[in-house]
Amino acid sequence: MLRRRLLNSLMALSLLLSLAICGLWVRSYRIHDTVIRVIRGDLLQAFTMPGRLYVRLSTGNWINGGGFGHAARPSEPIDHAFRWEAYTDWNAVGIGYRHEPFMAATASESHEVSLPLAYLLLPCAAAPAAFVALRVRTRTRRRAGRCPACGYDLRATPDRCPECGAAPELAGAGT
Ligand SMILES: [Zn+2]
Repeated sequence: MLRRRLLNSLMALSLLLSLAICGLWVRSYRIHDTVIRVIRGDLLQAFTMPGRLYVRLSTGNWINGGGFGHAARPSEPIDHAFRWEAYTDWNAVGIGYRHEPFMAATASESHEVSLPLAYLLLPCAAAPAAFVALRVRTRTRRRAGRCPACGYDLRATPDRCPECGAAPELAGAGT
């Protein structure tokens, strides 16, 4: 069924994404990665620090080299000793924000947001978790003689749910 295939693809995708994020997370303790991109003259940078992801937008007239630039270097002791909270204008629950006012040297001001790389796993883990929860709920309802779609008691009307109109064999076929 299409719906099931779509759900399976979504789950596979979010699992792959979770693995990639885990990989980047582990890597961030050894390697300092930076990706840059110039968008309409503004410089967008994403880089990792041990356990954290930074995204910084610097306004100005940056030269567009085209495409993405990537750089990697081994993490240094100074990266590990970095007190990220001290380098923010605002921070809460691990998320930080920093504004750098306009500087003549770079003709630029910047906004920077940082967060623990582990936070990126939450939305990725949510998809498989919801998928499993839905399957368990459907199975439990069917076993209990309830409509798999809405949970209405179907013992008196096993062919079609009077509450939502779902035919149990159809409603259950996709799960
Ligand atoms: Zn129903």
